[in-house]
Amino acid sequence: MSKSLQAIRGMNDILPEQTPLWRYFENTVARLLDNYGYKQIRMPIVEFTELFKRSIGEVTDIVEKEMYTFEDRNGDSLTLRPEGTAACVRAVLEHGLTGAGQPQKLWYIGPMFRHERPQKGRYRQFHQIGLEVFNIEGPDIDAELIVLTWRLWGLLGIRDAVKLELNSLGTSESRGRYKVALVEYLSAHLDKLDEDSQRRLKTNPLRVLDTKNADTQAVLVDAPKMADYLDDESRTHFEGLKARLDAAGIPFVINTKLVRGLDYYSKTVFEWVTDKLGAQGTVCAGGRYDGLVEQMGGKPTTGVGFAMGIERLILLLETLEKVPEEISRQVDVYLCAFGEAAELAALALSEQVRDQLPNLRLQVNAGAGSFKSQFKKADKSGALYALILGDDELAQQVIGFKPLRGQGEQQNIAFDALAAHLATCVVQG
Ligand code: ATP
Ligand code: MG
Repeated sequence: MSKSLQAIRGMNDILPEQTPLWRYFENTVARLLDNYGYKQIRMPIVEFTELFKRSIGEVTDIVEKEMYTFEDRNGDSLTLRPEGTAACVRAVLEHGLTGAGQPQKLWYIGPMFRHERPQKGRYRQFHQIGLEVFNIEGPDIDAELIVLTWRLWGLLGIRDAVKLELNSLGTSESRGRYKVALVEYLSAHLDKLDEDSQRRLKTNPLRVLDTKNADTQAVLVDAPKMADYLDDESRTHFEGLKARLDAAGIPFVINTKLVRGLDYYSKTVFEWVTDKLGAQGTVCAGGRYDGLVEQMGGKPTTGVGFAMGIERLILLLETLEKVPEEISRQVDVYLCAFGEAAELAALALSEQVRDQLPNLRLQVNAGAGSFKSQFKKADKSGALYALILGDDELAQQVIGFKPLRGQGEQQNIAFDALAAHLATCVVQG
């Protein structure tokens, strides 16, 4: 195929054989979030570039080098969203959803775009499910966000494969004092820091904590610790969160180097990580961002949220072989009809059956074909039963009913008894 007809590198088609697992995952999450009282919001995929610069921060990896930014025909600078929080806050402010201190528990799902180096678990178009909670300031809601993800891992059967890492970044005042101490310490060891960290020391010093460079990591061993700079308010909040996680029986580890890539976090930050996916081990990450709404022009409004990477969780389900068998079967019954008269009767009959059994997954053969070829298609469809309608059956107003997976004998069923019969043998979702 010529190069111009290929998908963009790092932007993947999700093929029919993969969509059942995606839908299973998405439906599981959607039901869970309904049950916890979260409401879905849908934002546009494109926003003004300014939105992301103002919220995510000018000196973050995302804004510095990962955004898909372009000028539209009006000359406006637009960007494909690299994450969901900024747009969600914009929408909440624009529509007054948090006016008068009103709490909101929101979630969204959809594609995000970042110009990163594509590799396993890292793509240029990827998908997130994100949650954002506004105007609830206590650690109870931080705990709920974590508790519900823990429940999700339980539903998916992957609890053993993920670990919760927690940290507190304090309020912006305590973080400010910590930054001064950290910069002072690191400046004294400047020659031992890698190039990236030297640069970050000037632009975004907390990000140095996140380095993968071994020499810089060695310098960090004796660096000042955020925990020693936490103000009382943040300390109490963090203790409250830990007590709730203990009460819920959720294991966690404190990772004092956890800082997250975005500028807007405060107090709680957390990541769910796995060692089963190689370098791209974070499957879900988030934290509190009490200053963001105000920074974006709203009234002071607390916020806390997280996003999970759907591709990484799908990969994890596949790696751990936690893909439920039943999700790949998408047909219950396959109807084969032979000849024009039988096809017409089959169409009328199948529509009657659908009226009575709206959840039945009934596939009617299309494209005619010999007995052998239709039967092959019935079998390949994964259906549990085949229905067979030829001239002989039509004359008697019956249809052949044939179990395809060794559950009983073939028999003829009267047209008007078909729906009732199918109802007894197909479990309907
Ligand atoms: P990472 O450290 O892996 O780059 P991040 O800190 O940039 O992640 P967030 O912005 O917090 O990630 O996004 C939340 C989640 O979205 C991540 O934990 C991950 O599961 C997923 N994610 C982020 N970037 C990508 C990507 N390029 N491809 C696939 N999934 C991604
Ligand atoms: Mg990243």
